[in-house]
Amino acid sequence: MDIEQTKIPQATAKRLPLYYRFLNNLHTQGKLRVSSKELSEAVKVDSATIRRDFSYFGALGKKGYGYNVEYLLSFFRKTLDQDETTRVALIGVGNLGTAFLNYNFMKNNNTKIEIAFDANEERVGTEVGGVDVEHIDHLEEKLGGISVAILTVPSSAAQGIADRLVKAGISGILNFTPARISVPSDVRVHHIDLAIELQALVYFLKHYPLDEENIEEEE
Ligand code: ATP
Repeated sequence: MDIEQTKIPQATAKRLPLYYRFLNNLHTQGKLRVSSKELSEAVKVDSATIRRDFSYFGALGKKGYGYNVEYLLSFFRKTLDQDETTRVALIGVGNLGTAFLNYNFMKNNNTKIEIAFDANEERVGTEVGGVDVEHIDHLEEKLGGISVAILTVPSSAAQGIADRLVKAGISGILNFTPARISVPSDVRVHHIDLAIELQALVYFLKHYPLDEENIEEEE
């Protein structure tokens, strides 16, 4: 933990990840400020406590303005520190996997891909984006307590690898394959199918143009 942490009461410190998560969502949505009332409803902490907590962070809310989301987030990032970084494994160093390895997640996020796996002998033993590529046969022994995995293998390999990840103790999978994978209820899977997302966007552009109302008015 950061030295600054010592100045913050423990009860306040315990609420930090809660605040952090909510503010991060707001930030992703492009929100610049938030009132203590909004925060209070979202994190279920009364607003007097929130105001007191935030005063320890040097964040003073202005009446009618609220708190600056960016300021709070940068404070939280510093205070929650690097030991909160989530280590991630990536399975499947193809085109998409390679792109993720080369993309620096750490820039805006507390996550870091630490190890990658592939079945292709030509890729095993190489380094992509500063991350070592290990053979998928060594998944269990090399995973080393990592709890989150990104799946960028072909669909046909997805379920088998997911099963092995679950057995190895993974708690979250970001599934980029089109395959729907089954996991026990205590494992969280987020499914991102880029092809479907793109198709949906094109469909909406065609059938629901954003300025439809204006066009109709003009006709
Ligand atoms: P490329 O053009 O490099 O093949 P791709 O993303 O189009 O990329 P895919 O066939 O989707 O290729 O495979 C993605 C990656 O997953 C490849 O690097 C492949 O070697 C790897 N892969 C395939 N099967 C497995 C498996 N069972 N376990 C681990 N990795 C696998």
